[in-house]
Amino acid sequence: MFFIFGVAPRTIKTETGQFLCPVCKTRCAYEIKVQRQFFSLFFIPLIPLGKAKTGLVTCLNCHTQMPHMVLENQN
Ligand SMILES: [Zn+2]
Repeated sequence: MFFIFGVAPRTIKTETGQFLCPVCKTRCAYEIKVQRQFFSLFFIPLIPLGKAKTGLVTCLNCHTQMPHMVLENQN
């Protein structure tokens, strides 16, 4: 019997909402994705390793990735 294991990054969608995109200049949907390394066994992520990376805000209209601070200066 043998095991297949490894460490693989996994992208987790953490948040969705609406924001005023500075690129489109309109209100549109965004999502925040966070990447985290997982220890996986048989390609199934089991144990999270380390800290999650700060997620980037992705505009679902123009698909531009922006830092989280674009959500703080709304209105
Ligand atoms: Zn946009």
